[in-house]
Amino acid sequence: MAGPLTVECPNCGGPVEWTEAARWRPFCSERCKMIDLGAWFTEERGIPGEEAPEAERDDDPA
Ligand SMILES: [Zn+2]
Repeated sequence: MAGPLTVECPNCGGPVEWTEAARWRPFCSERCKMIDLGAWFTEERGIPGEEAPEAERDDDPA
Protein backbone atom coordinates (compact mmCIF):
# COMPACT_ATOMS: atom_id res chain seq x y z
CA MET A 1 0.00 0.00 0.00
CA ALA A 2 1.49 3.26 -1.08
CA GLY A 3 0.34 6.72 -0.29
CA PRO A 4 -0.29 8.48 2.99
CA LEU A 5 -2.47 7.03 5.65
CA THR A 6 -5.71 8.89 6.08
CA VAL A 7 -7.45 9.23 9.40
CA GLU A 8 -10.66 10.91 10.44
CA CYS A 9 -10.53 14.23 12.18
CA PRO A 10 -11.88 13.61 15.70
CA ASN A 11 -13.77 16.87 15.56
CA CYS A 12 -15.37 17.11 12.16
CA GLY A 13 -14.78 13.62 10.82
CA GLY A 14 -13.05 14.91 7.75
CA PRO A 15 -10.15 13.07 6.18
CA VAL A 16 -6.71 13.92 7.48
CA GLU A 17 -3.61 12.77 5.69
CA TRP A 18 -1.20 11.40 8.25
CA THR A 19 1.90 13.09 6.95
CA GLU A 20 4.62 15.33 8.22
CA ALA A 21 2.79 18.20 6.62
CA ALA A 22 -0.34 17.56 8.65
CA ARG A 23 0.85 19.37 11.72
CA TRP A 24 -2.53 19.32 13.43
CA ARG A 25 -3.06 15.60 13.13
CA PRO A 26 -5.07 13.80 14.14
CA PHE A 27 -7.11 16.94 13.53
CA CYS A 28 -7.56 18.38 10.07
CA SER A 29 -6.75 21.89 11.17
CA GLU A 30 -5.74 24.05 14.08
CA ARG A 31 -9.33 25.14 14.37
CA CYS A 32 -10.62 21.61 14.84
CA LYS A 33 -7.92 20.94 17.37
CA MET A 34 -8.79 24.01 19.40
CA ILE A 35 -12.50 23.26 19.22
CA ASP A 36 -11.96 19.76 20.46
CA LEU A 37 -9.66 20.85 23.26
CA GLY A 38 -12.11 23.59 24.18
CA ALA A 39 -14.96 21.13 24.39
CA TRP A 40 -12.91 18.86 26.57
CA PHE A 41 -11.89 21.74 28.77
CA THR A 42 -15.48 22.92 29.15
CA GLU A 43 -16.66 19.44 30.00
CA GLU A 44 -13.95 19.08 32.55
CA ARG A 45 -14.80 22.33 34.27
CA GLY A 46 -18.54 22.68 34.04
CA ILE A 47 -20.39 19.54 34.90
CA PRO A 48 -23.95 20.67 35.61
CA GLY A 49 -25.82 18.59 38.14
CA GLU A 50 -23.92 15.41 37.55
CA GLU A 51 -23.34 14.81 41.19
CA ALA A 52 -25.29 11.75 42.20
CA PRO A 53 -26.75 11.78 45.67
CA GLU A 54 -25.74 9.12 48.05
CA ALA A 55 -28.02 6.27 47.08
CA GLU A 56 -26.17 3.25 48.26
CA ARG A 57 -27.53 2.15 51.56
CA ASP A 58 -26.51 -0.86 53.43
CA ASP A 59 -30.00 -2.09 54.14
CA ASP A 60 -30.46 -5.70 54.91
CA PRO A 61 -32.94 -7.21 52.40
CA ALA A 62 -33.91 -9.92 54.81
ZN1 LIG B 1 -11.61 18.72 11.36
